[in-house]
Order: sequence, then structure tokens, then C-alpha cells
Amino acid sequence: MTSKLPNSVIHLKDYLPPAFSVQKIELCFDLKPNHTRVISTIQFKRNPAREAGLPLELQGSDLKLISLQIDNQVLSEEQYIISDEMLIIPDVVDEFVFQAEVEIDPANNTSLEGLYRSNTMFCTQCEAEGFRKITYYPDRPDVMAAFTTKVIADKDEYPVLLSNGNPIERGDLDGNRHFVTWQDPFDKPAYLFALVAGDLQVVKDRYTTMSGRDVALEIWVEPENLSKCDHAMRSLKAAMKWDEDVYGREYDLDIYMIVAVNDFNMGAMENKGLNIFNSSCVLARPDTATDAAFQRIEGVVAHEYFHNWSGNRVTCRDWFQLSLKEGFTVYRDQNFSADMNDAAVKRIEDVAMLRTAQFAEDAGPTSHPVRPDQFIEISNFYTLTIYEKGSEIVRMIANLLGPDLFRKGSDLYFQRHDGQAVTVEDFVSAMADVSGVDFTQFMTWYSQAGTPELTVSDEYDSKTQQYKLTIVQQTPATNGQEDKLPLHIPIKVGLLSASGAELPLHLVSNEGEASGEQGDVDRVLHLRQSEQTFVFENVTEQPVPSLLRGFSAPVKLAFSYSQDQLLHLMQHDTDGFNRWDAGQRLAINALKEMIKTFEAGHVPELDDTLVTAYRGLFSGGLSPAILAEMLVLPSEAYLGEQFDVIPVDGIHACRKIARKTLAQKLEAEFKAC
Ligand SMILES: [Zn+2]
Repeated sequence: MTSKLPNSVIHLKDYLPPAFSVQKIELCFDLKPNHTRVISTIQFKRNPAREAGLPLELQGSDLKLISLQIDNQVLSEEQYIISDEMLIIPDVVDEFVFQAEVEIDPANNTSLEGLYRSNTMFCTQCEAEGFRKITYYPDRPDVMAAFTTKVIADKDEYPVLLSNGNPIERGDLDGNRHFVTWQDPFDKPAYLFALVAGDLQVVKDRYTTMSGRDVALEIWVEPENLSKCDHAMRSLKAAMKWDEDVYGREYDLDIYMIVAVNDFNMGAMENKGLNIFNSSCVLARPDTATDAAFQRIEGVVAHEYFHNWSGNRVTCRDWFQLSLKEGFTVYRDQNFSADMNDAAVKRIEDVAMLRTAQFAEDAGPTSHPVRPDQFIEISNFYTLTIYEKGSEIVRMIANLLGPDLFRKGSDLYFQRHDGQAVTVEDFVSAMADVSGVDFTQFMTWYSQAGTPELTVSDEYDSKTQQYKLTIVQQTPATNGQEDKLPLHIPIKVGLLSASGAELPLHLVSNEGEASGEQGDVDRVLHLRQSEQTFVFENVTEQPVPSLLRGFSAPVKLAFSYSQDQLLHLMQHDTDGFNRWDAGQRLAINALKEMIKTFEAGHVPELDDTLVTAYRGLFSGGLSPAILAEMLVLPSEAYLGEQFDVIPVDGIHACRKIARKTLAQKLEAEFKAC
């Protein structure tokens, strides 16, 4: 094993395009546990965007070099420079065929990157920088090429030989060995390369795409898991259909394979045409798995499938852009799950996780922007901020544009950049080009870390029938980023009358931009300044504001709601998320009071208002899933977020007392449902 040089920081601003592009690559693997031979044949072409005469520089680590050739000429040792991390060939022409034969030791590869042997199988993991442990290559996502892969192995031990693309040839060889050749016609970066060999069993199905193409679907598992694949297969077909319906994206190869193995270290990996999963993310049987496990599988299978477009066909230029594929794909899988299940419940679950785990990350010592500007080790950046906050940024773009323009924007993005490795600017530009929205200020979301804090106040004038909302935004300093800029924040609002009806919204012109039509009951306000006032006219009575509907931006929002206003929102808000959130705010207020009593050394009691409010939920006509969410008190972690100094014992004790009180006082209601 070799390790990287310590403290070699890589900066986004230092990005340079590759010196050579790869026209195509052919790989031949002769698999043996300790002595796997890999022969690579690569057509290189000098990139005219870079200066002339640059050397060929290829990454490679833990490789035993057997031989090198250029245009069929064997290279002597004076013709190249080799180190633990690199192979450099100083003197090369503009276009040539490079061939390397190397030996690797998959049985002793414990890094779980590159090709490794686990139990009785061979398996790969190449994202982010694992391909360099397979052979010498420009192992960076902006080098995309068509791969052809021949896999040779013992026939009895490894009857199944899989790689990316479509199988084009198979046959027997001497010494009880056999081979399969796979061809992937779509250009891809090396991190999407995959190979699996082993004694696996398959569940097969088929799918007809929207243009009538027939696709074979295969889920490969260890024999004991064969009976647990039905749900994953159903989820896959639902995801394929959903991506056609919602994004117009069709699957492209003749075969789509999922391999689910017990010893895969990552959760799941979207290798082109050959996803590899840890079996916990695929396998479930109704008699042994919970609803939550079923939904998780549905979400993960869909996530990896959706990457075929958002990640594979259009990929990241460099690893600073990781959120380009992950943020967008998380957004897509969240909406898929919302459509397959209860949308409000899905949003509640996602926001609850974001507000506890991601907000904490964004305030802590590892706080970083969604697009970091430097890293030492990219594998440390597969974070909640890149994935979950990245998804929230895409959701904000969708909120600013509305569904029709967002779809036009994603169509343009896919069409414009198919087969390319691009940046978050390219994604946002497509959204700007179809909508005319200026995203210049919005881009700060990608570069600025920390969770913005909004303070909202209101004012109603019954004479002029005007209602004003004043919003102040501030982002606290984070690790390494002291000064923060105001962000462009979409705030979806509605106004409720005393009877609980939604009031039509007429924004006074020139008082700030907003998405949506005058008279709608929902508008998205564009907050751009540190402090900004939005004025609504023709408001016939003092309304109760429903702010940040659907959690339209990843922010903390403070508004001094009265107890009655929260009860009103909890009962009447048409936005399912805000109904739940009003209940959470009510519960936080009640628990805060209890914690005060607890800290003063007295025995706290739960306020009856909350008990009454919860009782009302049972007869409120809510779906069982949303009712279940609304009856859960805020988590201890989220309660902790409400304090500067966290009263750990108080939170734990008071939440426990509150739960017990609710269980006792609402026993009849709980039993009845
Ligand atoms: Zn992903």
C-alpha cells in the first residue's frame, strides 16, 4: 500500500482541462485472486485546448507494471517515469495507441477501491478515484470514453462475468476458463467502470421504454437472497417509468443490471448499466422488512437508476462539482418517493433529517459549501451538505421557476450536455436560459456555507387593506468563512383568513419580485436583500401567514407566532408540511416551558393546549401516514438546535414526560385508530 502525499491540497481554481482525450479504451481482465492481469489498449489524442508538447500523465497506484507499448513499440525504462501515484511518458506524438499490461492483487486489496475480492467474488468500486488501482489511466471525470471489456475467469468458480454495457461475445478457453466481452457504446468517465465475477443467481424481468425499446432487467444476488428481489425489481420499473413521465428520460442500453452483494462497502453505486449495491439496500421480504425498509429500497434503487442521466450521460467536470450529480439526483429521488407515497410525509421526513443532521454539519467544524473550493481527499466530501443541501438548492431553483419551466430547463441541460462533463454553472445556465431568471446572486448558495437565519415580522393596516411582511436574513460565520453575503431565497407564502380560508395574494408591484400569478393563494417571494419588505394589497382582514411552505428553502425561520396562530395553521393550512411544522413549533414552545420548570428544580407538566391540539388531529381527516408524523414530538436533536447551550437532561426528561402525558390523556384516541 502507498499513501498520498500529506497535505496536498487540490483547489477548484487550479482546474485545467486534460492534456489528452481518450478516443476509446479496450480492457482485458484475466482474473485470479492474487495475480490478475489487466491489459489496457487506449487511443489517446492530444487536446487542442492545452499547450503543445505536454507529456502523457496517467494515474496508477498499487500496480505492478509488466510492459508498456506505444503504437506497438515496447517502451524501455528510459522512456517513462514511474512513481507510486503516476506514470509519465514525456515524449509522445499527438495521436497514438497506448498499451499497458499490469498485475494487481485483488485478494489483498483491502481499500475496497478498484478491483477487490470479497468472499468468493470479484467486485469493483471506482468512484471517486478507484480506477487508478486497476490500471494506468487519466482517472478524472472529464475524460470520457467508450469502454470495451473482456473478462476471463475460471468457469466453475466464476460462472457469471459482468461489466458495463451490452454483452457482445462469450466463449470457452483452455484450462477450464471462459470469457465474456462487454461493450458500452456511451462515453463515460472511469469512475463509472464496473466488473463483477462470481457464482451469482439472477432474477429477470423486462421493460419496454417509451419509444418501444425492449430492455432486459436483471438483479444478481447470492443464492440465499433470490427470494428477496421482487420489491427492488418493482421499484426499478417504477423508476424507469417515472423518469420517462416526469423528465422525458429513457433508458439507453439493452440491459440494466443490479448486483446486490452482502460485502459491498458503499451503499450503492451507479456504474453504467451495472449498479452494485450492498444487499441491505435491495433485498426485502414482506414478512421480515418494515415499511421504512421498503421505502428506503425504493428510493435507493431509483436514485441509482436516475443517475443514468443525471451523473452518467451528463457527468461532473471535476470532483468539486460532485453536487451537480448528487444534489440533482437526490432531488429527483425525493420527488419520485413523494409521488409513489405520501408527498407531505416524504417532505417532512427529508426536512426533519436536514434540520437535525445537515444544519448541525453546516454549523460545525467540518462546515463546507455545497461546492467546496478545495479538498485534500475527495472521499471525505460525500457529505450531507453535498447531497442533501445540494438537493435543496435544486429544489429552490424549481421553486423559483415553477414546474413547467424547470422541466424545460432540465430538458435543455440534458440535450445541451449529453456526453459531456460539466459544472454547476452549466446546470444553472440552462435553468436561466429557459426562464430569464437572473441566477447571478443565487450562485452564492454553492459557494457559501452555513444555514441562513430569517427573521420575519408583519404588519396589517385595515384602512388601506395592506399587509406587509418584512424579512431579515443573516448567515452566521462558519469555519473559514467569516463574512457572508445575502442570498437569493425563494420563500413560498400563503395567507389564511380567520375562517381558515386561503386569501388571494396581490403583491404591490415594485415591492419585490415573486413567482406565480397575482391572485394565486400561493406565491414564491424572491428575497434578495439583507432586509426586504413585501406588501400585499386587497387583504380584507388580518391574516395568519403560512411562511416557507413546503420548506421552500433550507433556512431557519423565526416569526413570533402566537399559540392561537399555530393552532390555526395546524388545523387549516393547506400546505401539509406547514401544518406539521406548526405542530412542531407548538410542541417546541410547550417543551421549552417544561424545560424552564425542570431547570428551576420543579416537576414539569405538559400544557393542555398541546394535548387538545393533538386530540383534534385524530378527527381532522388526515391520512394515517401524516397523522403518524404529526403525533411525533420534535426529536431531541432538533430540540437541541433551539438552544445556544443545550439543556441535555432537561430535553430528555421533559420530552419523556410529554410523551407519557400524551399517551395517557389520548389513550382512547390511540386505541380507536
Ligand atoms: Zn448518488
